[in-house]
Amino acid sequence: MDKGKKIWMDGRFVDWDDANVHILTHTLHYGLGVFEGIRCYRCEDGRSAIFRLREHTERLFASAHIALMEIPFTKDEINEATAETMRQSGLKDGYIRPLAYLGAGSMGLFPKNNPVRVAIAAWAWGAYLGEEGLANGIKVKISSLCRNHVNSGMSKAKLVGNYVNSILAKREVVSAGYDEALLLDTEGYVSEGSGENIFMVKDGVLKTTPLTSILQGITRDSVMQIARDKGIEIKEQRFTRDELYIADEAFFTGTAAEVTPISEVDKRKIGKGKPGPVTKEIQNIFFDVVKGRNKDYNKWLWYL
Ligand SMILES: *Cc1c(COP(=O)(O)O)cnc(C)c1O
Repeated sequence: MDKGKKIWMDGRFVDWDDANVHILTHTLHYGLGVFEGIRCYRCEDGRSAIFRLREHTERLFASAHIALMEIPFTKDEINEATAETMRQSGLKDGYIRPLAYLGAGSMGLFPKNNPVRVAIAAWAWGAYLGEEGLANGIKVKISSLCRNHVNSGMSKAKLVGNYVNSILAKREVVSAGYDEALLLDTEGYVSEGSGENIFMVKDGVLKTTPLTSILQGITRDSVMQIARDKGIEIKEQRFTRDELYIADEAFFTGTAAEVTPISEVDKRKIGKGKPGPVTKEIQNIFFDVVKGRNKDYNKWLWYL
């Protein structure tokens, strides 16, 4: 891992190798914690810009609200700390991980006085699903695991414990030779990837899962805004796995995955089995936006 030099912990910077916690850290045992994944890109003019930092911080606090955790910092402080973590990392671009978690204290399932602790780390991270996948598309398989039910997983929160479901699904399909898992919701409709939202294209219309069983992705929102601005019709509507099999195009979105084309699902080619025109157009605009080449979306960039 290409690690940043310093990690922000509870208000101060420590060296990467010294960023430790006690083994009785509550979140480590039971999974009640919340996190974010944010990317910082090196722009054409040489400056670095964090993509939609304010929205990520908003969601971190929303996740904490759902989890009944009170973050002992303001949103402004977390925004500044995130930007400063990137500066102190010594990296020009990378992935930033804010994490709010319950520290050591009582060890039962009623963590009354355990402190809410916050850490922010940054490291270099290339294409999450591979450069080849980003360019030519990935092979997806529907997992035998369902996405968490909305009354158990609470999908609006980026909750640490929710990712057991994701990791099990991902391991299942990777061991079967695929690149990424697609999960259905508990009613059998397409939900999302292990850490990505999904879009499909049919007859020029873009369709994506409504905000029920999925995490409300910031990349999803960015793609929807880009598509609307391009005059592409977009529907937030449930769809089935076989509707996806006969789509013209499909792609995943996420901070880590960016805009990754899907070339096949369960051995069915999607369209021609390579990135289609709508996917490519949106992907190109997305990378122009995050790298500061498209001034129309400059409000999304937090320059360091
Ligand atoms: C983080 C995540 C996404 C993508 O959200 P972004 O805000 O675009 O990064 C989608 N689904 C799940 C389950 C996630 O954890």
